[in-house]
Amino acid sequence: MLVTRIAPTPSGHLHVGNAVNALLTAWLARDHGGRLLLRIDDFDTGRARAAYLADVFATLAWLGITPDDGPADPSDFHARWSMARRTGEFRTAAERLRLAHPDDVFTCRCSRRSLVDGACGAGCRERALPLVPGTTVLRLHVPPGVVVPVRAAVPEAPTTLPVPAGDHVLWRRDDLPAYQLGSVLADEALGVTAIVRGVDLLASSALQLHLAALLPAPRFQQVDLRHHALLTGPNGDKLSKSAGAQAHPMLRTPELRARVEGWAQSLGAPVGIPPPP
Ligand SMILES: [Zn+2]
Repeated sequence: MLVTRIAPTPSGHLHVGNAVNALLTAWLARDHGGRLLLRIDDFDTGRARAAYLADVFATLAWLGITPDDGPADPSDFHARWSMARRTGEFRTAAERLRLAHPDDVFTCRCSRRSLVDGACGAGCRERALPLVPGTTVLRLHVPPGVVVPVRAAVPEAPTTLPVPAGDHVLWRRDDLPAYQLGSVLADEALGVTAIVRGVDLLASSALQLHLAALLPAPRFQQVDLRHHALLTGPNGDKLSKSAGAQAHPMLRTPELRARVEGWAQSLGAPVGIPPPP
């Protein structure tokens, strides 16, 4: 059975790009008779504001989306679904990954600013430094030229993706999973089999599939990934990214709801996601 998810991060108000993506994800689940989950990524609790969390539920209600599983409202979220309480479990997975792949996964003292072309230039990889909160991060080394197979959901979709080269953070200096690792582990644990996201996340998808092969996260390796185009304005400018934050909540009017539906129809057709009959 197809299992997909809407996975907002409560670090800002949702924007029209998030709304279109949520609708497309709900349509994919419906089209396949699958399950739709809501997974709210609040690892970065410092940025998760109550207003942003409430905005997630209000936006889904406005769109007419009722997930099959996941938090029903903010208090249910805090009581049963917060990811922040699972940090220890994810840290264990990160440490296991490091032991299994000592040549690829290493601790690094370097800040993002001191990296050279996205890679550690200080030789941390050869030093086997301890992972110490506040002092070191865990990085995944990806040499140039790595490609990963990707399950092509539609005939036009690529069957391989290039993995961005560099030393990518897996575990942060503030002792939290980085986005890529947290996302793969959470989706794997939930049994997610399909993800709908914007083409601006192609590089993330490639890195996540590469990570899934190393962990291993066998379900994620087989995930049905649909990358839709981004919303553009009349002059071809980008209206919004599929990920990101905005300062104010959307004006949840019936008119905007109709426009979101129209955008979802136009972006969903090329990736095989039809609107409900
Ligand atoms: Zn380093």
